[in-house]
Amino acid sequence: MSPQRTDPGLPGLLKKLGAMTAIRDTYLVEQSLLRTIGPLLGVRETSLCRVDDSGTIIRVLNHSRSVVTEENGVQRDAERIEEITSDQGISSTKRKLFDSVRLLGKPCSKKLDNDLLICYPLLGDNKLCGYFVFQRDREVTPVEDAIVHGVLEVFTNYYELLDTSQRDQLTGLLNRYSLETNLDRLWNLLSARLHDADKENTRRDTAPENYWLGMLDIDHFKKINDTYGHIIGDEVLILVTRLLENSFRQSDLLYRYGGEEFIAIVAANDLKSATLAFERARNKIEQYTFPQVGHVTISGGFSGADPSVLPQEVIYRADSSLYVAKNAGRNRICHYDTLVKEGILKEVASGSIDLF
Ligand code: GH3
Ligand code: MG
Ligand code: MG
Repeated sequence: MSPQRTDPGLPGLLKKLGAMTAIRDTYLVEQSLLRTIGPLLGVRETSLCRVDDSGTIIRVLNHSRSVVTEENGVQRDAERIEEITSDQGISSTKRKLFDSVRLLGKPCSKKLDNDLLICYPLLGDNKLCGYFVFQRDREVTPVEDAIVHGVLEVFTNYYELLDTSQRDQLTGLLNRYSLETNLDRLWNLLSARLHDADKENTRRDTAPENYWLGMLDIDHFKKINDTYGHIIGDEVLILVTRLLENSFRQSDLLYRYGGEEFIAIVAANDLKSATLAFERARNKIEQYTFPQVGHVTISGGFSGADPSVLPQEVIYRADSSLYVAKNAGRNRICHYDTLVKEGILKEVASGSIDLF
């Protein structure tokens, strides 16, 4: 069935924009954009690709709508949203199209079988921050072009505003507020995955990726402030942030949790890989020579993101492990379950933990 353009008219369009800008979460706003713009163009599949400052694709959001027939014969519209945090699966045609859009700084299209692959640049702060892509059997009309430009502009401006509110001003990292939202989302995803695995009772060919939450804290940071002043202290915070960002993978999440405390959510299949990821970060900071200050170290504690335990409890586990790392002499990373096994931390039935 060929999807028809459903022209909502101006009131319909404004209503959709209103709904989009009522959302307070960057992730949901992106979904809302694709949901809004697909019907305007009469297409069932749309994608949004995010690029980093070097132009590398870091995240792809695919949205598709299809008609499914239920067992009782009733047809209903079904929506599918897929998020990929890498540039894998992007065809060479799409890559070439992205290159043209980036170089020309304007929408471009390429022939693909009997269709056209059409791509618009997403601009944030006058800088390319992504691509909006869809496939259609005909070129975009001037009216459609004006609508897409307008909607994308509202979207990018609004997205930037939201994004700023979710970030810490000094380091540019995600702040504590966005941690809460993202933890809820991660827990929903992990619980759904657990539920699916139970329901299907199937074995997976590849082990599912696990997530680990680590709390990292700069050692003796107060002394740095006291010795060199707040400005140098701030500079150390910024440098530590950059080193951590370079150490973890692009798809891992890093937050400024407090003054000199960070939370990293790392995807790793097993404890060994997770330990390596946190140790790499600790080591990277230990090896770096900070201007004026010289050497700075961090301590950390981490725990598995277990969906059967509340996110706050996992944060508490990481924090307790960090406390152990500090007491054991700093510049080290401790793992919660290992500490419990070794009898250094005790798991208390109520869900809280006591330190021996
Ligand atoms: P420990 O090794 O036990 O973690 O000791 P510490 O000195 O790092 O920890 P403490 O909690 O005693 O001190 C943290 C200091 O971080 C105190 C606070 O003034 C400073 N701080 C918090 N936020 C900022 C900031 O944004 N900039 C600067 N320069 N300092 C900050
Ligand atoms: Mg500290
Ligand atoms: Mg601290």
